[in-house]
Amino acid sequence: MTIQLHDTLRGEKVPFEPLNEGRVTMYLCGPTVYNYAHIGNARPAVVFDLLARLLRRSYQLTFARNITDVDDKINAASVETGKPIDDITARFIKAYNDDMATLGVQPPDIEPRATQHIGEMVTMIQALVEKGFAYAAEGHVLFDVSSNDKYGSLSKRDLREMIAGARVEVAPYKKAAHDFVLWKPSTPELPGWDSPWGRGRPGWHIECSAMAEKHLGETIDIHAGGQDLVFPHHENEMAQSSCAHDGAPFARYWLHNGFLSMDHTKMSKSLGNVLLVHDLIKTVPGEVIRLALLSAHYRQPLDWSAETLESARRMLDRLYGAVRGIDVSEDARAAATIPQALTAALEDDLNSPKAMAAFFGLAKDLNKASDDDKRVELAAQMYACGELMGLLGSDPDAWFAGHVEGDMSSDEIEALIEKRNAAKGRRDFEAADAFREQLKDAGVTIQDGRDGTTWRRS
Ligand code: AMP
Ligand code: ZN
Repeated sequence: MTIQLHDTLRGEKVPFEPLNEGRVTMYLCGPTVYNYAHIGNARPAVVFDLLARLLRRSYQLTFARNITDVDDKINAASVETGKPIDDITARFIKAYNDDMATLGVQPPDIEPRATQHIGEMVTMIQALVEKGFAYAAEGHVLFDVSSNDKYGSLSKRDLREMIAGARVEVAPYKKAAHDFVLWKPSTPELPGWDSPWGRGRPGWHIECSAMAEKHLGETIDIHAGGQDLVFPHHENEMAQSSCAHDGAPFARYWLHNGFLSMDHTKMSKSLGNVLLVHDLIKTVPGEVIRLALLSAHYRQPLDWSAETLESARRMLDRLYGAVRGIDVSEDARAAATIPQALTAALEDDLNSPKAMAAFFGLAKDLNKASDDDKRVELAAQMYACGELMGLLGSDPDAWFAGHVEGDMSSDEIEALIEKRNAAKGRRDFEAADAFREQLKDAGVTIQDGRDGTTWRRS
């Protein structure tokens, strides 16, 4: 089946066809590294990781996700903390990659850093000036928005309306309010590089245009990011790149994920409801967070609450519960196929909720199957689905025993269960109940069965 993707520029779902047969290039705007990523920042990383996994099944994919390591917010963090800029960016690049890895996000093929591409940015800005799309003024270089008649087409904004509605005071070096910065001067204490316009630093938008060109070419297949980036970031990237490349399209498909809110409220520092992935993974397994992020279709808004996580954990318990105790050989795994219902759902504009429904359908079939060979075959299929979705990466027993920092260790749990069973054996039910309560308080549920007592973290 052909993959269908919703393209923001065309405003509809369209069949996906890469520029070069068999090969796909994809660029995702990555983090600005001055702080830990919050759970909203993790949404594009996770959903487009799933898209990358899907594309790799059929194409040779080159996936770039950049790092913005020169930015006024980073400079401000350096002033605030008194730490050198390089220390801040190095620390948060590592934290970002570690945190995303915990969410099952595979590393991109290329992770370009803005500070390592200043030469390419200067070259692109020079080309824009020479071709009449940009002008230099007072140490700045600005993109002349009026020179690009397609400006506004991605974000569906009418430039004339925008100009009429603009009430902002126009900086003296700008010809028009909407002209945006490609290069700006730096004071001696700020990071800066020599350029034909004096010592300065790039604007944010030109970073992505230059890095995408360097690593993926003039026209890329897929450009992705969060919905908030459509305007101005992607509108500006598109204008710069296509003007620098004599009208060649910048991206063939523009994909944007919807926003994540917290208990129906926008996440914001001032409201104190910013949930950092770095903190959350101390108490919640990465797979639970990943599944919670994939529980809504990527273009829909996703409201995050305690219930979102709980329901993801229950879903994973069902999946792990189905494969638990089934020994699946390497050969069986290699031979496993993924049910068509699951791939078809993902190929339909990455419909992850529908794909998960197909995954549960498989778990249900497995639970019902009694023939041993059939059970091994279905379990192998479940692992194959898990690999595609970035789930089921743990050993099932370890999953149910799985503990995160601060939890009671498996040894402590087993010891308490033994004490409880001993108490039951001597008919001291009060003591037995007390041990059960102690486990419950530690978030551990126990169940007595024919083969003894099993437990899981709830
Ligand atoms: P930033 O570091 O702010 O540039 O954001 C990195 C990525 O996270 C961008 O693709 C943003 O669009 C995305 N993003 C930021 N906040 C949210 C949110 N609340 N929900 C979904 N995506 C978000
Ligand atoms: Zn970008």
